[in-house]
Amino acid sequence: MSHCAVYPGSFDPITNGHLSIINRGLQIFGKVIVAVAHNPQKKSLFTVEERLDLIRRSLPGENNVEVDTFEGLLVEYCKNRGVSVVLRGLRALSDFEYEFQMALMNRRLERDIQSIFLMTDYKWFYISSTIVKEAASLGGDISGLVPDLVNQKMKEKFGLIPPSAL
Ligand code: ADP
Repeated sequence: MSHCAVYPGSFDPITNGHLSIINRGLQIFGKVIVAVAHNPQKKSLFTVEERLDLIRRSLPGENNVEVDTFEGLLVEYCKNRGVSVVLRGLRALSDFEYEFQMALMNRRLERDIQSIFLMTDYKWFYISSTIVKEAASLGGDISGLVPDLVNQKMKEKFGLIPPSAL
């Protein structure tokens, strides 16, 4: 099913950089499966359920995006879903080394799965979930870098505003 791509990551939380890759991925693929990696060893700010919810609510009315979670090997997940394309985003040169290593390992594990990389928009070049969390935790204004709902949920997590029912 070459018209579908899996876009895997931690998405802790989703940023406008991720959204840009999803939207641009949809210009190439008929469907994008955003796959949130469940890695119990990795400390995260949001639970997997919260991350899935934030992604879904950041993509209102988008019928060609499925949001799912997986645990274990990405290539196994792709095989089980019948998808042979992995979509990833590239920012600075520093991403390249890690992505290159991951792509080659995935190919070694499963020859039929291809990795496709989209270069980020210059606006999101310096944005990562980590840097956004760091700024938000210190009370920095991160509006415009993440969807509004994510901005609000992060402030709640860091105790900067009281929790809402949203
Ligand atoms: P990881 O778990 O490897 O840190 P993330 O969940 O942060 O991955 O991101 C998933 C994918 O999205 C990766 O391919 C990453 O390079 C890409 N990505 C993250 N932030 C951006 C951004 N600002 N612009 C483009 N791609 C991005």
